[in-house]
Order: sequence, then structure tokens, then C-alpha cells
Amino acid sequence: MKFKIDMHNHTTLSSQCSVLDVRDLIRLSIEAGLDAICVTEHNTMYGARRAVMIGRDMGFTVIAGQEIASASGDILVFGVEDEGLQGIPVPELCALAKERGGVLIPAHPFRENAFSMGDSVAEYAECFTAIEGLNGNCSDRQNRRAVELAMKLGVPYTGGSDAHSIKMVAKYYTVFDTDSPIIDTYGLILALKAGQFTAVKAGERSTV
Ligand SMILES: [Zn+2]
Ligand SMILES: [Zn+2]
Repeated sequence: MKFKIDMHNHTTLSSQCSVLDVRDLIRLSIEAGLDAICVTEHNTMYGARRAVMIGRDMGFTVIAGQEIASASGDILVFGVEDEGLQGIPVPELCALAKERGGVLIPAHPFRENAFSMGDSVAEYAECFTAIEGLNGNCSDRQNRRAVELAMKLGVPYTGGSDAHSIKMVAKYYTVFDTDSPIIDTYGLILALKAGQFTAVKAGERSTV
């Protein structure tokens, strides 16, 4: 089956940079035909955990992650639920992810004016299950560079809206080829490790 997940979203629950109410995010994601979303607040699991419960009330799957500002740039993290990890060196985060069975995905690696890993992704390539190739807050050119780096490193790439407001919801997502629905972090980690997924821009298949 094809299973559509927007991998990267911020809500007012715990991202001060966001004006997106979690209930609006869920409602619009359902309307857009997504099967699930990830909530990935900055350096905390708090908002994501609340979002999972609100999703349950609304009959929609929300998967909890966080976006950690590592010493080298932003990284989407699933399965590492520690608090206070901002500033952590990538090798330490990598070891922690191995210990916890989690996955790391460098976010928007080539976005300018943001805290992004850039070419240093290559230095730590073995730490990353995927690279965020399509990000809703990046230009096409920045996304293309991320996709090219992923392809060069032989690492699959994901898509996520990085939504902070209503108009950004469900613009980018990831389509998983999976035998069963992905209903929680554990299922998402398994699907990411299986590597059977494609990053998509809403309304078109990725051509970068
Ligand atoms: Zn970021
Ligand atoms: Zn983000």
C-alpha cells in the first residue's frame, strides 16, 4: 500500500516560531488526503506528545519526533525522546540514536539563513537513515542540492512541509511503500530503515 506522511511540522504547542494550531494542522492534513503526519518541535518532545493525543481524539495518526539543533545544524529525530539535546555534537547524537534504536534525518541541509548541516552531512553519512530532500521552506534549488547530496551518498531522501502556518500544510510529504499502515514512531522507524519511500511535492511527483 501507499502511505502518505508529512514528516516535518511545527505547532503552537511548543514552537514559538509557529502560528499553526495543531487542530488546524490535523484537519487540513486529513483534507489533503495524508495518512499521517509527524510533529517535530524544536528540541523538545512535549508538543509532539500532546499532538499524538489530540490526533487520537480526532481519529488521525500523529507521529512524535523532534527537530534537534545539533552542533552542526538541524536534524529530524525519531525514537530519541530525550529532552535538552540542543547543541549536541553529531557523533554523540549518532551514538544515542544507535542506543535508543532511533533514526536521524538532517533537515533542510542547504537552506540559507537557517541552521543547516550543508556539506557536513557527508562527514557523518553513516549516522543518517535518510536526508530531508524536499522541505517546504526551501527553494527548489536548495532542495535540489539536498537531493543530489542524498543520491551521491546513496542515502534515501524524505519530504516534509516544515509547516509553521496554515498555508504551508501538506505541501510536501513522503509516500511509503508499506505492507501495513504506519501508526507510531516504531512503525515509522522500521519503514524509514526499509528505505521504500519517495519524497513528493503536493500535486506532482518529485522530479529533482
Ligand atoms: Zn529547521
Ligand atoms: Zn523545522
